[in-house]
Amino acid sequence: MAAAAPAEVEQDTKGEKFAYQAEVDRLMDMIINSLYSNREVFLRELVSNCSDALDKARFIGLTKPEVLADNEKLEIRVRTDPENHTITIEDTGIGMTRDDLLNQLGTIARSGTRKFMEAVKESKGDANLIGQFGVGFYSSFLVADRVKVQTKHPEDDKQWVWESRAGSHEFSIYEDSEPSLVRGTRITLFLKEDSHELGDAFKLKSLLKQYSEFISFPINLYASKREPKQVTDEEATKKKQEEEDTKAKEENREAKKIEDVTKTEYEEVWDWEVQNDNKPIWSRNPKEVTKEQYDSFYKTTFSEFLEPLAHSHFNVEGTIEFSSLLFVPGMAPFEQDMMKRSKNIRLFVKRVFISDEFDDDLLPRYLNFIKGVVDSSDLPLNVSREILQENKIVRVIRKQLVRRSLDMIEEISKREESKDDYKTFWDAFGRNLKLGIIEDTANRDKLASLLRFHSSNSEDLTTSLDDYVGRMKKEQKAIYYMATDSVKAAKAAPFVEQLAKQGFEVLYLTEPIDEVAVTNIGKYKEHPLEDVSKENLDVSGDGKAEAKEETEAKFKGLTDFMKEALGDQVEKVTVSTRLTDSPCIVVTSKFGWSANMERIMKNQTMADSRAMEYMKGRKIMEINPDHELIKALNSEVEAGRKDRAGELAAVLFETALLTSGFSVDSPSDYAAKVYRMMSGAVGGSSSTTGDGKKEEKAGEDGTVETVTPEVVTDEDPWKK
Ligand code: ADP
Repeated sequence: MAAAAPAEVEQDTKGEKFAYQAEVDRLMDMIINSLYSNREVFLRELVSNCSDALDKARFIGLTKPEVLADNEKLEIRVRTDPENHTITIEDTGIGMTRDDLLNQLGTIARSGTRKFMEAVKESKGDANLIGQFGVGFYSSFLVADRVKVQTKHPEDDKQWVWESRAGSHEFSIYEDSEPSLVRGTRITLFLKEDSHELGDAFKLKSLLKQYSEFISFPINLYASKREPKQVTDEEATKKKQEEEDTKAKEENREAKKIEDVTKTEYEEVWDWEVQNDNKPIWSRNPKEVTKEQYDSFYKTTFSEFLEPLAHSHFNVEGTIEFSSLLFVPGMAPFEQDMMKRSKNIRLFVKRVFISDEFDDDLLPRYLNFIKGVVDSSDLPLNVSREILQENKIVRVIRKQLVRRSLDMIEEISKREESKDDYKTFWDAFGRNLKLGIIEDTANRDKLASLLRFHSSNSEDLTTSLDDYVGRMKKEQKAIYYMATDSVKAAKAAPFVEQLAKQGFEVLYLTEPIDEVAVTNIGKYKEHPLEDVSKENLDVSGDGKAEAKEETEAKFKGLTDFMKEALGDQVEKVTVSTRLTDSPCIVVTSKFGWSANMERIMKNQTMADSRAMEYMKGRKIMEINPDHELIKALNSEVEAGRKDRAGELAAVLFETALLTSGFSVDSPSDYAAKVYRMMSGAVGGSSSTTGDGKKEEKAGEDGTVETVTPEVVTDEDPWKK
C-alpha cells in the first residue's frame, strides 16, 4: 500500500491542471511558509475528514444499503513507509466524485479562509487553529511537499486522483489507472525533509492517542508490536540434562531424557492495530469518564484548541430515552452570527450520526454557542427537519438541553475557586443570555440571575442582580439603571447625580440589547427595574411633595414659556427634584424612547421615520429650580425679555439633549447659537474656530455667525 516514491515522481505531470482559487492559493502559501508550531495537527484534521466521510457513508447506507454492500467495514487506516518517507491515511467513507475533487479541494473558496488567515497572523503562526475554519484538508501541506488523493465515490464509476505540490499554485486531476479502492479515500503525504520524523509508527501512534482517541470509527495503524514467543532454552536444557546424567550415574540408573526448558522471547510483529476506543464517549457511564477525556473528546469533535468551560453528560430514561453530552466552549467562535446555523449539536440516532444541521430545532437560537451531541433511540433513522419540528420527543429533548445548558452556566457562575471562568463566559456569551431574556420567557428568572452589569458600585467589576439587591438601601424603591453606550457616559449622565448623592446604586447598561432585555425583565425578585432617564422617577424622600408644588407654581411662567419656545420638540417642561449640579435634563415619557434607544434606532437604516418623529417628540425637559442659570432665565422671562430668553432656552435644551445622551438635529445650528452667545459674553464681534480658520457672516441682527467645520462633520457627538 505504501507508494514507491520514485515512480510516483515521474507521474507528476499527469492529468488536467487547475489553478487554485485565489484565496485558497494564498492560504496554501501561508500554510507552507508561515505556520510553524503544532504542525502535527495535520493528522487530526485528515482523520477527522475520514470520520466525516464515514459518517456520510453510514448515513446514506441507511436508505441505500447497496452503497455499503461491497465493503461493509467502516474504518480508517493509517500507515507509514519510513523508507520512502510517506504516510497514507485511508478511509472507507463516501469518497469524492470528480466534481467533488475539483470543487472541494481547490477551486471553490471556503468561507473560513480569510478568517483563518487573519487568526493566524494574530496567533503567531499556530497551525492548531486550522480545523476551526473548515480548511483542514490543506493542513496536509504543513508536513508534505506533495500530496496525492485517490478516491472512489459510489456514484462515480471511476477512481480519481488529485495531486498537488507545495508552492506550485496548481493541482491536477486524472483517472486512476490502477483503481484499488472499493469505496472511500486514500491520501498519501510525501513528507518534507524537516517532517521526516513524523513518518514513524510510534510517533503516529502517540499522535493518534493525543488527537483522535474519540473518533467513533476504528483507526487502524500499521505498527509493530513486541509479541511474546516461547522458545527452547538450549543452554538451560543442556545443563539440566547434564545434571540428570550425573545424578543417574551416582544412583546407578539409566538417565532420563529431560524435557526442553523453554523461555519467553519477544519478537517484533508488524500488523494492523486499532488505536482508539471507538465506543462513543456519551454511551459510557459518566462515572467512568475523566475530565481529561471529556476535554479531549470536545477538542477532537469540534476542532477546538481550548478546553471547554464546563460539560454536562446525562442520560434521560423513561418513556423517552436519550443521552447527551454538552459543552460550554472556552471562547467565542471567530465568526459569531446568531442568525446562522452553528453546526454545534451533532444528532445521532442509535449511535448513527444523522446531522449537525438541526441546531435550531434542538436548542433555541440564544443557546447556539453550546456544543455537544445528542443520541436518541426513539427518533426514526430517516429523521428530517420536518419530522423534528413536529416531534413530541424533540420537544422533550429540547427542554432538557436548555435546562442542562442553563445549569452548566449557573455552575460556572458559582465557582468560588475560579471566578475568572464566569468572566470569560460572560465576555464571550453574555449577549446570548440577554437575547434569551427576550426570547425565552419560561426561563426568564433563571436567565436574569445570570446577567452581569457594570454599576456605580464598582469601576471594574460587574454585578449580578442578586448582589445589587443585597446592597439596596432600605428606603430604595427600585433597581435603577441608566442605558447609554459606555460606562463613561453613564457615569457622567446628569440623571445619576441625585441617586449617587443619596447613595443609590445605578446599573450601567452599555450594550444596545441591554435596555430591551431589562425592560423585558420588568421586576427582579419583587423589585421593579427603573430607567433613571424616564419621567417621574421618584427618588426624593417623602414630604417633599408640597415643596414641589410650591416651586412649580413659582416657575410656571418659565415652564410655560419654555414649552412655547421649544414647541414640538418637547412634550412638556417640568420642575425637577432630582438634579443638583446640572441646570436641566431631557428625559423621556414612560412610553417614549430613551436616549439610548433613540440612538440605536437612528443607527438602524430600516427605522420607520414616522415612528422616529413621533417618538422623538415624547421628550420632557426637567429644569433645576436651584440652578443659577435657571434662576437667571426666570428673571429674563419675568422681565419680559423674551427674545433673549428664547434663544437661551433653545441652547439650554440642546445642551441638555447632549448631556442626556441624545443628539442635536443640526450640530452646526447649535454651534452657531453657542458662538453667538459667547461673543455676546466677551463683547466682541467675531470669534475664531478651533483650527484658526475664520468663517463669518453677518446675521440678520448684526451679530456674527461662525461655523466650525469640525462640529459639522460630527453628526452625533454622543457616539464614541
Ligand atoms: P471541512 O472538512 O471542514 O469541510 P476540509 O478542508 O478539511 O474542510 O475538507 C474540504 C472538503 O473536502 C470536505 O468538506 C469534503 O467534502 C472533502 N474531503 C476531505 N477529505 C475527505 C475524505 N477523506 N473523504 C471524502 N471527502 C473528503
